[in-house]
Amino acid sequence: MSATIPHVLILGGGFGGLSAANEIRKSLSSSQVKITIVDKKNWFMVGFAKLWIIKGTRTFENSTGSLSELSKKEIDFLNEEILQIDLENKNIKTTTNNLSYDFLIVAMGAALAPQKIQGLTENGMNLYDYKQSEEIHNKIKELKSGTIAISIMGMPYKCPPAPFEASLIIDSMLREAGIRDSVQIHFYSPAPITLPAAGPEISKQILELINSEKIIFHDSCKIKSVEPNKLVFQDSEAHFDLLLAIPPHVVPDVILESGLAKENNFIPITRDCKTPYENVYAIGDVTSLKVTDTMAVPKAGVFAEGEGLAVAQNIISKIQSKEESALFDGKGGCFIESGRDTASLIEIDMFSGPKPSTKLTESTSEHLDEKVQFEKDRLSNWL
Ligand SMILES: Cc1cc2nc3c(=O)[nH]c(=O)nc-3n(C[C@H](O)[C@H](O)[C@H](O)COP(=O)(O)OP(=O)(O)OC[C@H]3O[C@@H](n4cnc5c(N)ncnc54)[C@H](O)[C@@H]3O)c2cc1C
Repeated sequence: MSATIPHVLILGGGFGGLSAANEIRKSLSSSQVKITIVDKKNWFMVGFAKLWIIKGTRTFENSTGSLSELSKKEIDFLNEEILQIDLENKNIKTTTNNLSYDFLIVAMGAALAPQKIQGLTENGMNLYDYKQSEEIHNKIKELKSGTIAISIMGMPYKCPPAPFEASLIIDSMLREAGIRDSVQIHFYSPAPITLPAAGPEISKQILELINSEKIIFHDSCKIKSVEPNKLVFQDSEAHFDLLLAIPPHVVPDVILESGLAKENNFIPITRDCKTPYENVYAIGDVTSLKVTDTMAVPKAGVFAEGEGLAVAQNIISKIQSKEESALFDGKGGCFIESGRDTASLIEIDMFSGPKPSTKLTESTSEHLDEKVQFEKDRLSNWL
């Protein structure tokens, strides 16, 4: 560590990066630690706000917080693209800078890769791309009859319940427009059950929930390609008029080039979020944290946030010359909006025993209020 003020450099200003930066700043002043966040975007948005833009109750502008607000907390924000991560020489190259660090937190999320599925970009919409949310809203509004297909095109993907929530929100839009009986909603997943990470019992409950709104779930559909108005799976085909896809998620190229992750994998971590490089940590969607031989921590904001807190605690301890002992607790909850002014909550404890424990609450208006509050808290506490 340099003799001057230690520098914590955070790559990515999403859930994980903002959680870690704020947690460190709460304990250590700017005379004790310098904190820099680098992000190519200059705003933060809670992922599920995209669904509200699709619904039409939100706009992009009233769903984002500006990362330049970080300066109020004496957290530096550099709005540039990260081009190279050189861990041997402790140098991070951005569009116009070379940055050094004492502690590095890699929190760059998962990249969406629609280009991996032949024909997808030309023939379908990306449900997870904020740039397409408004257009998706308009397309649903224009539809008078036909078939909407929601298709998960790779595992793992962010926030496993979100596509199901999207289907329920779209169902409510069609009901409100009085055309639900003229539009079919089909849901295609490569998985054998709706939510493998939440287990078979909750998966059954989610299946019953969507079936009760006449949303038809097709399991084990492994996508091969997309043609005009046609999904081509390994063993079957399906027609659509509007395709909303969840494209494959991949690790960003700069991470692959840094050697932190191997092709087709995310950065492997354990609960201390350490990498093989001293004082270099990785958190959130850019990582893969095994829970059992066949299951990893799902990609979700709550978990990125929890990992950010654990890493922050360990960096604070190191700066204070104390032992670093914090571990990610694996606890979190994900809301599922029903499209009927209520929401349920999936409560998860990833490390409670040999298998994660999960619980699905009743769908109530109180949980929907909690979801709205969840967003407000992140935007007001972090920015
Ligand atoms: C529709 C939808 C609904 C969701 N709902 C929920 C929910 O209800 N609950 C929940 O917990 N999670 C939810 N999520 C998931 C959640 O948004 C993600 O899991 C979370 O954002 C991951 O946090 P992260 O910090 O790992 O990555 P991100 O939040 O994705 O942040 C990564 C940051 O790194 C930046 N970056 C990447 N590469 C570069 C580069 N080369 N140069 C500069 N900057 C770079 C990006 O711009 C980004 O800001 C939802 C997601 C979607 C899409």
